[in-house]
Amino acid sequence: MKHILSLFLIILVFPDCRAQNNKMDFEKYDPVSTLVVPEHKLTRAKFPFIDVHNHQWQMGSQDLGDLVKDMDKLNMKVMINLSGGNGSGLVSMTRNVKEHYPNRFIVFANVNFTGVGKEGWTEGAVKQLEEDVKNGANGLKVFKNLGFSVNDVNGKRVTVDDPRLDPIWEKCADLKIPVLIHTADPKSFWDPLDEKNERWLELVTHPERKRGPDNPVPWEVLIEEQHRMFKKHPRTTFIAAHFGWYPNDLAKLGKLLDDMPNVNVEFGAVIAELGRQPRMARQFFEKYQDRIMFGKDSWAPEEYATYFRVLETDDEYFPYHKKYHAFWRMYGMGLPDEILKKVYYKNALRIIPNIDKSLFPN
Ligand SMILES: [Zn+2]
Repeated sequence: MKHILSLFLIILVFPDCRAQNNKMDFEKYDPVSTLVVPEHKLTRAKFPFIDVHNHQWQMGSQDLGDLVKDMDKLNMKVMINLSGGNGSGLVSMTRNVKEHYPNRFIVFANVNFTGVGKEGWTEGAVKQLEEDVKNGANGLKVFKNLGFSVNDVNGKRVTVDDPRLDPIWEKCADLKIPVLIHTADPKSFWDPLDEKNERWLELVTHPERKRGPDNPVPWEVLIEEQHRMFKKHPRTTFIAAHFGWYPNDLAKLGKLLDDMPNVNVEFGAVIAELGRQPRMARQFFEKYQDRIMFGKDSWAPEEYATYFRVLETDDEYFPYHKKYHAFWRMYGMGLPDEILKKVYYKNALRIIPNIDKSLFPN
């Protein structure tokens, strides 16, 4: 009887022991939350909004009708396409917009950095930009290749604050168009790829994103180049993409904004940073409510729900949509309507020219 009982105990206990000793992949661990709290899942923004950070590479030839349908579902009234290119490519985009949905899209131009240092390169780039604006561009977007991979004709890295680019930024001030600029990437991409790195999963699944002190330079060097460039051109309005890569240090970002009144920010791809510090983030939004714009970056309509929920609700501990950005959960900031309106459209209407104001409430 005793033996039978211990055998029974072993059978009963063994699977448990095995489970306890079992290791599991980080990627596999995905516990279902048992927390019961009020939920406000939002598929549509409370106010019509402008997405200042979007990419539509085929805008010159695509049927914009499908895009507009998806935008309408989200309550996105205007999309800023930052991938306008320049020259004839840009013309095809602004023409398609003008012919079909003239007040739903704004196109930003891009500078072609090939040939920096060649005789007359700067003058040519400035002239091209003037022409692009005449052809309907309402801003300039600078991609992260400036700083990372743009070299001059001698093969030397062109820094973000390279004086050969100064006339371009000055021309933007003359033309009264903003410059939205993405420099560097999250600092974690430069940190050792180990168990302490918050972006470990992203770097393992996207190894090409890993950087180092000589690939091409330390993170701080790129960020300082950008800030020197901002300060050198106080007449020019800049929009630092992705909260200037300080969404995880809002006190620091606040100091930078205090220091540089010509700089604004958008939160494309960094809402997970705000959603993990709702109190600090809300204070930041209260203080800098005139300097923040709505940006998303990648066009995945279903992901906007997370943005709306972090901005608008008081919800707690809700999931984010991409584990490699955030293995943590989100909390809402519960922003008041007046701040929401500024972030959703009022600031963009003030900073980006030629957006149809009649699409938005006062
Ligand atoms: Zn982007």
